[in-house]
Amino acid sequence: MMKRTLSLAMVLLASATAVSTQGIPVPRDFFGFEIGEDRKLADWGQLTAWYELIAQNSPRVALDTLGKTTRGLPFIMLTVTSPENHRVLHELHATQLKLADPRQIADGAELSRLLDRGKTVVLVTHGIHATEVGGPQMAARLIHRLATANDEKVREILDEVILLDIPSLNPDGLGMVVDWYRQWVGTEYEAAPLPTLYHHYVGHDNNRDWYAFTQIETELTITKAHNVWHPHIVHDIHQMGSTGARIFVPPFIEPWEENIDPLITAAVNQLGSYMAAEMLAGGKAGVVIHAQYDAYTPARAYQHYHGGVRILSETASARLATPVTIRGDELRGRRGLDVSRRSWNFPVVWDGGAWHLSDIVDYMESGVLALLTNAAKNQRYWLENFYRVNQNAVDRWDEWPRAWILPADQVNTTGVDAVLRILTLGDVEVHTAEAGFSAAGRAFRAGSYVVPMNQPYAAFAHTLLSRQVYPDLRQYPGGPPQPPYDVTAHTLPLLMNIEALPIEEPLDVALSEPIPHHEVRYAAPAALSEGRAPRLAVYKSWREPMPEGWTRWVLDQHAVPYDTLHDADIQNGALAQYDVLVFEDQSAEAITNGYSPGEMPPEYVGGLGHTGVAAVKEFVEGGGRVIAVGEATEFAIQALGLGIASATEGLSSQEFYIPGSILRIESVGEDVITEAMPRESAVWYWRSSRAFDIGDARVRVLARFGEGDPLLSGWVLGGEQIAGKPALVEAQVGSGSAVLFGFPPNYRGQTMATWPLLFHALAYHRDH
Ligand SMILES: [Zn+2]
Repeated sequence: MMKRTLSLAMVLLASATAVSTQGIPVPRDFFGFEIGEDRKLADWGQLTAWYELIAQNSPRVALDTLGKTTRGLPFIMLTVTSPENHRVLHELHATQLKLADPRQIADGAELSRLLDRGKTVVLVTHGIHATEVGGPQMAARLIHRLATANDEKVREILDEVILLDIPSLNPDGLGMVVDWYRQWVGTEYEAAPLPTLYHHYVGHDNNRDWYAFTQIETELTITKAHNVWHPHIVHDIHQMGSTGARIFVPPFIEPWEENIDPLITAAVNQLGSYMAAEMLAGGKAGVVIHAQYDAYTPARAYQHYHGGVRILSETASARLATPVTIRGDELRGRRGLDVSRRSWNFPVVWDGGAWHLSDIVDYMESGVLALLTNAAKNQRYWLENFYRVNQNAVDRWDEWPRAWILPADQVNTTGVDAVLRILTLGDVEVHTAEAGFSAAGRAFRAGSYVVPMNQPYAAFAHTLLSRQVYPDLRQYPGGPPQPPYDVTAHTLPLLMNIEALPIEEPLDVALSEPIPHHEVRYAAPAALSEGRAPRLAVYKSWREPMPEGWTRWVLDQHAVPYDTLHDADIQNGALAQYDVLVFEDQSAEAITNGYSPGEMPPEYVGGLGHTGVAAVKEFVEGGGRVIAVGEATEFAIQALGLGIASATEGLSSQEFYIPGSILRIESVGEDVITEAMPRESAVWYWRSSRAFDIGDARVRVLARFGEGDPLLSGWVLGGEQIAGKPALVEAQVGSGSAVLFGFPPNYRGQTMATWPLLFHALAYHRDH
């Protein structure tokens, strides 16, 4: 399954007591600079060569290539443990598999043996956000230290821990960032922002993909690390802004998603607190716990639903590898944290001053070493806690139904396939009913899918299949809402437009064995791929927004041809070649003006400008169609002079607030765009979404937000402000049209329920 570069012969040759570091130079001799040196970044070619060299020469380190990234680079994982553990890795793995599924453990005596024999399994991941450059650089030093050092601390870690280290979760992005940085270092544009997303499709959203598994890198990590080893601890290494605390580690703030086992919450609290204490004892100032980051969305925390803990650390950033100096009066707290004074969760103040990549690397490395030390010293605790969480799930929580059913013969078979893919990739056991049966007053046909809730990863299934009721958290009683760190809903049956039912009674039907990993194939929409398909263009700003990448992803998944147009293309008349132009969710200001002079090298400065805006207007008046989503609707409204306003303009967050929830819309009348959807549909709504007020006879309403309370899942304050208001409209302009989506028809590759609206809006010819 995996290619192991560490040969058995090499393992046997290695001495158990005296580990040779022969053949492994110090990092400076290999890279030509010290790891963390100002303005120096190792690239992916150097880093993979470094790990290959270490794996070839150290009996403590094995290197596996898990697969290829989106752009074809090697995606690798290092397995680090003592040579003795490497020799019996298969046995240690078998032990871990049993603890992961308590149904496989015969009795207390076997459990006791497993708990004695097993090792703490830790997965550390680096650099998912490629501009957070410290993590992958730090990994180079960490792995070298674990491969070569012989101090007590390292030996204890190697003896008791199996470390799985993915030194970059985003090698493509690492390459883009290092190339860009090297191109401009030493010039006035040193450490300028990247003009593209740092993941081919999804940019920063790549760490919001831990239940939808849309991207190759996510799927590789899930199927070849998580689901193989079921780590007790996962540590994702990130960076945050420059002007607050120096590093954040858990405890997380409220809310915790309610299906995460309380034993996991407690384990996160103790581990994060221990890391903070160790770092402070080691002289690291500015460590904060219990701040800013919550534990609500499963999109960032796969392991919380798979028996283990997921720790996030966030270290203060410099400017890529360029140092910054932060004066004491520039330090800023967030969300009630005052970084100028000490407090229970911020015991040692950092006074400001210079902050280098070397500081970032030092803080990160000390955090990982503290985590590994906790994992090593508390081996028994970690295994027992993991076992108990899995046993609790196998026993089924009182709050959970007996099972979830996905009825056979649903209209949206692709949606059912997509949900089954997610559940089975998440290691959920899904069965089919071998005969027809009745439950909850309904008859289900043979072949219906059954997800029993008494299984190890039931929490993953239940969380994704049920509707969320996000707690109404306020900054103070009666005050403004406390903004969630992330979004508040993730109900797959709504997002994917399928039916799934919780069943409270025992099922009386024979079930198949669990189905294998389920795949989904997206069929190309006929109108966009067959015969005379429309000529599609997607606008790509140099301030490239993530929804534009997600739209490219969904078009590529469906094999829909399109071209990407930049500002200069549109300014130079390219629109004559197209029928439809898409503006994804991005502010009118960013589209029109782009980057300012001095912010970026000249070729990336400016947006569409007067010339580009005029070209867009001419395109529509001459028969073309513009599709605009979310904030970009304001661009279309301005460019085309439409009498449309936002229905919630000027409302305070106490009057209207929807941070990322699932709402109901209703189609209005008959139209080719809405004919593919049911009269009522679930849509995503978040901060950049909007409802419209229409004062223009050229505008037709195609769908409205639901009357009454439009909320289906998540959290809404002041839902009545948009109830019944236009959500999707089309404006006739000259002989062309503009289709304005107030909501994103494609939210992070998940809203299959509203993809048909996007496809039907795209299916348009200039002269029809
Ligand atoms: Zn990050």
